[in-house]
Amino acid sequence: CRILGIETSCDETAAAVVEDGHRLLSNVISSQVEIHRRFGGVVPEVASRRHVERITWIIQEALERAQVRQQDLSAVAVTQGPGLVGALLIGVAAAKALSFAQGIPLVGVHHIAGHIYASHLVKPLSFPVIALVVSGGHTELIYMSDHYRFERLGRTRDDAAGEAFDKVARVLDLPYPGGPQIEALAREGKPVIDFPRAWLEPDSLDFSFSGLKSAVINWLHNARQRSLDINRADLAASFQAAVQEVLVEKAIRAAKQKKVSHLVLAGGVSANKPLREALAKRCEREGIDLRVPPLELCTDNAAMIAAAGTYRFWEGERDGLNLNARPDLPLIL
Ligand code: ATP
Ligand code: MG
Ligand code: FE
Repeated sequence: CRILGIETSCDETAAAVVEDGHRLLSNVISSQVEIHRRFGGVVPEVASRRHVERITWIIQEALERAQVRQQDLSAVAVTQGPGLVGALLIGVAAAKALSFAQGIPLVGVHHIAGHIYASHLVKPLSFPVIALVVSGGHTELIYMSDHYRFERLGRTRDDAAGEAFDKVARVLDLPYPGGPQIEALAREGKPVIDFPRAWLEPDSLDFSFSGLKSAVINWLHNARQRSLDINRADLAASFQAAVQEVLVEKAIRAAKQKKVSHLVLAGGVSANKPLREALAKRCEREGIDLRVPPLELCTDNAAMIAAAGTYRFWEGERDGLNLNARPDLPLIL
């Protein structure tokens, strides 16, 4: 079973071929980061145009590298949402065209389901499992009883973790995307500033990062007003430590509450090394089996979409040529 995955939900144009749901045959990603950087974030119109320019070539490249012909594909899986509608539409249109031309099944995939399946490409998921999803638009704890069965245990009530990284990076005059920049700067500093941790109600598995973001901005503002020496590296390290502590604690709390011994880390922020290390250490201590995607599968890619799509395909789920991009597609129906 060979499935082509297509992902265009934001600013990467990506295509990949995955065999039997977990063997990566090719994984091609064309990032637009350089194009959007001068605007300080993704410009939707620019992203859509760039996707149009690249998508055909990226798909061709993915098939060539995998040495698979279009007519030999079992199905085509595409990110249906959530994401930027104009960006999603390009991938969906390309997937439909391929499905129609070759007479192969079409499967729409939820972008966050994809992020969770990134780990599956390293070692097959064991169930039940809890996924800590930390990305640019999502921060959620998802319980999975089986393939493609999702239950939400908690979510952010305001900003996503990645969004907080990007916003704090911005006030530190660091370029977009902010996550890797903060991580690099934090390496030079120490977490000496005690920023607030939003634990919310006891036992809550929800998150909140907007208070932390404001605390960082206020701290900077006060320090500047009093003309104090600002150690940006310490500030970055302190912010990162605050995010990390809450994410790790709540993921462990979720695993204990649900008596689950498998955990996966998913989404762009899972590229963050201190987070990976802290979670790994904690999981080892608690006897929890942790799976973390390799760096290249943390941020947006199509391999994860092909992997997740394979399980929808195997369950007999099919989408028609009326499949539409849905910027607000829910994970749980
Ligand atoms: P979503 O998946 O919620 O739709 P998205 O696709 O835009 O959003 P991803 O591509 O999964 O998000 O992840 C991008 C986010 O990950 C950005 O906010 C970025 O700053 C963050 N990120 C990437 N690398 C790191 C890192 N090393 N440390 C912290 N954050 C990171
Ligand atoms: Mg991106
Ligand atoms: Fe993403």
